[in-house]
Amino acid sequence: MLKLKFLFLIGLFYGQSIAQTCPILPTPAVFQTTNGQFISSGALLIDPSGITPDLTLAIKDYSLWANEILVTPFVQNPMVKFKKLNNVKQDSYSINIADKITISYSSDASCFYAWVSLLQLVQMEDGQLVFPKCFVKDYPQFQWRGLHLDVSRHFFTIEEVKRFIDLMAYYKFNTLHWHLTDDQGWRFEIKKYPLLTEVGAWRDSTLENHYTTQPRTYNKTRYGGFYTQEQIKEIVSYAGARYIEVVPEIEMPGHARAALAAYPQYSCTGQAQGVEGLWGIFDDIFCAKEESILFLQDVLTEVLPLFPSVYVHIGGDEAPKTRWKECPKCQSVIKENGLHDEHELQSYFIGRMDAFLTQKGKKLIGWDEILEGGLSPNATVMSWRGYEGGKAAAAQGHYVVMCPGSHCYFDHYQGRGSDEPLAIGGYTPLDRVYAFNPIPAEMSVADAAYVLGAQGNLWTEYIPNMAQLEYMTYPRAIALSTTLWSETKLPYDKFLSTLMRFHFPFLSKQNVNFSKAALKPELKTTREKNGGINIQKMPAKGTLASPEVFASIPAAKKKTQNIQLEVEQGSNLAPKKINIIQHKALGAQIEFQIPPSPKYDNGSLTLVDGQLGARPWKGNEWLGFDSNSVSFDIIFEKPIRVKEIRIHTLHDPNSWIWAAQTYLIQLNKYGCGNGIADGYSTDELIEISIKDKKVKQIHIVITGLSEIPQGQPGAGNTPWLFLDEIEIR
Ligand SMILES: [Zn+2]
Repeated sequence: MLKLKFLFLIGLFYGQSIAQTCPILPTPAVFQTTNGQFISSGALLIDPSGITPDLTLAIKDYSLWANEILVTPFVQNPMVKFKKLNNVKQDSYSINIADKITISYSSDASCFYAWVSLLQLVQMEDGQLVFPKCFVKDYPQFQWRGLHLDVSRHFFTIEEVKRFIDLMAYYKFNTLHWHLTDDQGWRFEIKKYPLLTEVGAWRDSTLENHYTTQPRTYNKTRYGGFYTQEQIKEIVSYAGARYIEVVPEIEMPGHARAALAAYPQYSCTGQAQGVEGLWGIFDDIFCAKEESILFLQDVLTEVLPLFPSVYVHIGGDEAPKTRWKECPKCQSVIKENGLHDEHELQSYFIGRMDAFLTQKGKKLIGWDEILEGGLSPNATVMSWRGYEGGKAAAAQGHYVVMCPGSHCYFDHYQGRGSDEPLAIGGYTPLDRVYAFNPIPAEMSVADAAYVLGAQGNLWTEYIPNMAQLEYMTYPRAIALSTTLWSETKLPYDKFLSTLMRFHFPFLSKQNVNFSKAALKPELKTTREKNGGINIQKMPAKGTLASPEVFASIPAAKKKTQNIQLEVEQGSNLAPKKINIIQHKALGAQIEFQIPPSPKYDNGSLTLVDGQLGARPWKGNEWLGFDSNSVSFDIIFEKPIRVKEIRIHTLHDPNSWIWAAQTYLIQLNKYGCGNGIADGYSTDELIEISIKDKKVKQIHIVITGLSEIPQGQPGAGNTPWLFLDEIEIR
């Protein structure tokens, strides 16, 4: 028994030291080092007889880009030999580095993955290539390992898209979901309909600042661009040479304003409107009449031959039914086909595209709204509004790609600092992406078999250029690729140290503008024992320093005060100034009857930490509730005198968040305030005056809208209710 334990301990330490030195990300299934190094001066000589000419070319090109390594075919005395294996796990490979390098692979893609791993193992020392002697065995967990790129809201040139693809390949992504059309720009040459790009690719204005900033201002510079069919082919083949498949997305029936600016006859009203310069959701969508369906099928007829991908994305999300309800043509399609309502009309519309694509040997994929009104027989669902759509589709035997906003939206903030670039909102830091699992815990094994994988989505409303695109993508994309590829993930701290030691230098060398937000020291607020708060300065990640007390603030005894804490200059701590409202409930205990959603549960202290949530909102500064009613008690150590209660809520309809509508206040279990918080206004602050009462406990019920009104993003759903500070004065 003792012996067994001893062996186990040795194994543990041995395993640990190996894991610490493995530079490859995503983490391979097996990595074992032996003593010594394999050294090559100058070029790397490979035996091309074990691989296809295409693969030889791919390896040569990619090595030059990634590491400036010259790869030369040399049959007589090669340093690297290849061996194709049959009957092994799909896309698996192994690398053996001894006196020579041997790569065994199961598919061309897996040989390329092996090569990428080899490039991550090499160190350059005095002009020599130094490899550790080791054995690597590896294979992916999921077959859909994707990044999505929106080129409609902001346009990226083919050179920029190629660079995006080069970086994807370094982390073994295999799918680029290319969002080519939207309200703000049509980016794809269609020869039969030249106005799609002549008109639809250009807008006269672009929103400045955030959607929620009032009054809105616009940059009036004409903005746009598009890809010719030749350029599309060039990108598809460039990606193919890096074993990445490009899945095109042509949005329908919603997000169609750019197309309808060019061809208004395919809308319900027929009235011309410009290409949109504001972000959001718009009522004018493709009409469901036959002419519009045939128009879109014509478009697809030109799209399909350019993309070898079996999947074609048709969007299907965020299509308000406002116009369809009033349109005689849409209504007659409903009647003629025995449909019940506009949701079934959407299902009919998607079904027509599904039949069309199926007949052409392709597979339809769409956002999870395509579930509404019934899922089309061959459709694959991309689940973005949480896991729910994916769960429902898998239960019906449909394939699923997961990209819940909570973990996969790389247009969300990744840091708390005021120096973060303007983003759409939300908070998806690196550790959250790393913790992501495409298969939700409650999913059955049978349903999980339908989950193809996941992808990170880069919507570009607030990403105007390549530098910012890279900032939002890296390093979060590396965390995602590890989740999708690796059978066993390293603990987060180890992942972080591997990133810092091996991958940040690589990204720097490539001039990638990656984010270091995950490394920054943070302030952490906790409750003091007898009320009040304690703010600690947490050390930077990867250092051994201990937390330091930054400030300790008791709850107010009498008057509420505003305290401003300065953060020292030149430090990474952010925001640079912290405002604390020192009110009477600072650090008080809170008991929820209806708890926050696990997605936005940052702890009850959020409501009484004295700090107001910033705008645009970041998920970490608010408590989010997915029920339209919230109920909780604030409990004080000793009875206090209360004159005023101020409740801060959030109103951001674009994110489906609506300000509170009514409130009910009970002091010490007796009714006191009961009112309407200013109708359906956008008032985010509820102020309640009270006749100076002595209280030990305050019971608060806040109710929001039960349903998002028609014409608004997410119409018909229950809106989110977001709460921040509850000030007691
Ligand atoms: Zn219509």
